Amino acid sequence: MRRVSIFGATGSVGQSTIDLIARAPEAYEVVALTGGRNVARLAADARRLNARFAVTAHDECLNDLRAALDGTQIRAGAGQGALKEAAAMPADWVMSAIVGAAGLLPGLIALEQGATLALANKETLVCAGPLVMETARRHGATILPVDSEHSAAFQCLAGESAADVERLILTASGGAFRDWPLARLATATPEQAATHPNWVMGQRITIDSASMFNKALEVIEAKEFFGIEGERIEVLIHPESLIHAMVGHADGALMAHLGAPDMRHAIGYALNWPVRADLPVARLDLAEIGSLTFRRPDPARYPALDLARQVMARGGLAGAVLNAAKERALDAFIARDLPFTGMADAVAFALDRAEGEPGLIDAEFTLDSVLRADRMARDWADAYIHKQSV
Ligand code: NAD
Ligand code: MG
Repeated sequence: MRRVSIFGATGSVGQSTIDLIARAPEAYEVVALTGGRNVARLAADARRLNARFAVTAHDECLNDLRAALDGTQIRAGAGQGALKEAAAMPADWVMSAIVGAAGLLPGLIALEQGATLALANKETLVCAGPLVMETARRHGATILPVDSEHSAAFQCLAGESAADVERLILTASGGAFRDWPLARLATATPEQAATHPNWVMGQRITIDSASMFNKALEVIEAKEFFGIEGERIEVLIHPESLIHAMVGHADGALMAHLGAPDMRHAIGYALNWPVRADLPVARLDLAEIGSLTFRRPDPARYPALDLARQVMARGGLAGAVLNAAKERALDAFIARDLPFTGMADAVAFALDRAEGEPGLIDAEFTLDSVLRADRMARDWADAYIHKQSV
């Protein structure tokens, strides 16, 4: 029996992970499940999978969680302390599927236990790539990518050396506003931004797909995970979302990974790695699909991509600044305090302010320095947003 834990179990990736695990309950011992305010979902899954520990991120939800687990042996916990405790419980395989920088610490703790970390939380590598990779190395832990593009590239690279590849191409659907007139973007609402042409995902990542901040994070994530220079990582709009990534070799060969847009593929690949198992995902009928199309992303429509290039060129803690400012800008867009097009401006403002803060971006990579950069970037983004809304 493999011991598994799922951080962010109630979210989109978490639920897809549970779907796979629940199909073979005899193969897994579920150690810990964590979630947020949806304690009914969390408790139902903890019961179904007979988890040992269920954790809500919110202290005020503890009583409800306890009540929902009444009559079981499942322990209930709440808040940061319980989240850390869950992460420190020995497990063989851990899914990191919390959204945002909040996913960093539990993932780091799981790596310190030597677990195999299935990484859906891209913010982990964006904020603290060198620290995370070094922690994994030091504790003999394995990190497996779950972001679909990175899983695809990882699969294309089986038996090859990432350091030798000529280029890595991450595909993007282009999001909800791919075909909108540019002038209309400033009027986009959160509801409009939260509809994705091909993938069903959490609200935040779906809006990030419309702005391509999601792809901006993914380019940085790929640089950190594969150790490939930013200049060799390209973004290509592929409206059908069937090719997830391509790897170009020195001899001109381009290896592509195709599959239905269903996260259970990437999750299942990480769950069964290094072998492949039958997965409940649709098989592609390419004759039926007929054609695949591609276009270059327009920098004016997707300024987030240029911000990612700046961050990769700058290095250090610039990724933590970009991510934290983006999280606050996204909060403000969802709250209707910032227009859609203001999100990139808020992030650019925070990156600029970070440059003026001696030693911030170039600090040594520690959890403290990352959290400090994260905190300051949130304040700068808030200052920018406040200035816009008064
Ligand atoms: P989601 O919003 O559907 O779920 C997020 C989960 O994290 C929930 O369980 C929520 O309770 C928990 N959570 C939120 N804030 C928290 C906090 N502060 N502390 C502790 N727990 C918290 O998100 P999702 O779409 O499943 O995405 C999860 C992560 O996976 C993100 O980093 C996202 O970028 C990445 N990812 C998602 C997809 C996808 O298809 N949804 C694909 C690739 C990568
Ligand atoms: Mg992705």
